[in-house]
Amino acid sequence: MKPVDERIAILEDEPDIRALMRAALERAGYRVEEYATASQLLSHIENSPPSLLILDIMLPDSDGFEVCRQIRSCPRCSELPIIIVSARGEEVDRVLGLELGADDYVVKPFSPRELVARVKANLRRTRARTSAILKAGPIEIYPEKAEVFVEGKHIDLTFVEFQLLVALAEKPGRVFSRPQLIDRIWKGEKIVLERTIDVHIKKLRDKLGEFGRMIKSIRGMGYKIEE
Ligand code: CA
Repeated sequence: MKPVDERIAILEDEPDIRALMRAALERAGYRVEEYATASQLLSHIENSPPSLLILDIMLPDSDGFEVCRQIRSCPRCSELPIIIVSARGEEVDRVLGLELGADDYVVKPFSPRELVARVKANLRRTRARTSAILKAGPIEIYPEKAEVFVEGKHIDLTFVEFQLLVALAEKPGRVFSRPQLIDRIWKGEKIVLERTIDVHIKKLRDKLGEFGRMIKSIRGMGYKIEE
């Protein structure tokens, strides 16, 4: 996969270092956004999580460890790869950074090439870890394990409810007709009334609680899940 759609956020208060990082990452094909303070980053990151965060430790309004802790407590950013960059290369910092949920640690001064290599490696690992997971807002679906979590809480679904949710979540925003959903789930092995889909959708919505609203009925057409 080409990294063109991958957005790298940099939180670093020194403009020269930010410029160096930006140049190296843009040369490698990444989109880059820069933040000079922790509050700027934190006010932004939950609404629009980047693909990866490069995080300086010594910041004017906070420190990278605290930022790391806050990011890990935000559900949408729990899988966000974080590379800590610091002049403080002591073992205690590395261990603290990794314990707080950073994925990697680069010591200043670093070569731009090394930074890009670390970014690539971390994105690759994250893709491998998350490719099997389907997400719709706070709903996370693990197709291989047949498990669903809403805001981190496990939800029990029947086989049909689970298959419906997977079908919708694989193509967010796309409308599926009732016959399409019936085909997908029963594969022509059984004659199923279209109304049956409505019954299962209702139960599925109830189990998803307030997020059941994400499954929309489109009059005369079928169902979709919000993007
Ligand atoms: Ca700094």
